[in-house]
Amino acid sequence: MPDPRRPLVSGNWKMHLTHFDAIRLVQQLSYALTKDDYAAVDVAVHPPFTALRSVQTVLDADDIPIGLGAQHCHWETSGAFTGEVSPAMLAKLDVRYVIVGHSERRALFGQTDEDVARTARAVKAAGMVPLVCVGETLEEREAGRTEERVTSQARAALEGMSAEEVGALVLAYEPVWAIGTGRNATAEDASSVCGVLRGLVGELAGADAAASVRIQYGGSVKPSNAAELLGAPDVDGALVGGASLEADDFGRIVRAAV
Ligand code: PEP
Repeated sequence: MPDPRRPLVSGNWKMHLTHFDAIRLVQQLSYALTKDDYAAVDVAVHPPFTALRSVQTVLDADDIPIGLGAQHCHWETSGAFTGEVSPAMLAKLDVRYVIVGHSERRALFGQTDEDVARTARAVKAAGMVPLVCVGETLEEREAGRTEERVTSQARAALEGMSAEEVGALVLAYEPVWAIGTGRNATAEDASSVCGVLRGLVGELAGADAAASVRIQYGGSVKPSNAAELLGAPDVDGALVGGASLEADDFGRIVRAAV
């Protein structure tokens, strides 16, 4: 039976690039990618809020099949939440994917498991795909608590979702100690944790959801390690930070998923 899951390679641009720089990068990326790449892999970029409209305009005008993503949002549709952006606002900009529960949001901005669950449901309800991040700290890993940590985060995030909704979302296994450190998980470790997450989805939402949910690995993915990580069983793509800021590097990572 053919694998029903298309790989998804996502670039998280974090708090980098003005809207001018973002336009330049997405144009360079469109030159780096080919029809064959797009035929085999879903590609997405997650610029900062200030560049979403500019990047969307370029993707639209030049018919570039790269999905537009956001890095975060609030769960409410509107209201007195100074500094926040709502799912409805993102959906109106043709945003397709929203990162929810990135470890930097959890660690630096106090995002809780409950916030993550509420946001994931709101993103889904607005017609977009939540890309829910889970991952253990170095301390938790060294204490042998990786599985316990990622399953408790994923269990909380999936709370209240139907089996169909769970099957349509994206989970990203991002060990905190690997993000932005240059130190990646081994393919075996990434595959094993992604397998644990798929097992959890099966337990909570059934075999169909487990077969269709996409599970990315994220944490210092680079052109030099992408083929091994992306070729590992149960790894359906990558969430890429630093290396997504260089069009050639990101293009090589996408090609490793083909
Ligand atoms: C990330 O931002 O989610 C990430 C994985 O970053 P990096 O690839 O730089 O480790």
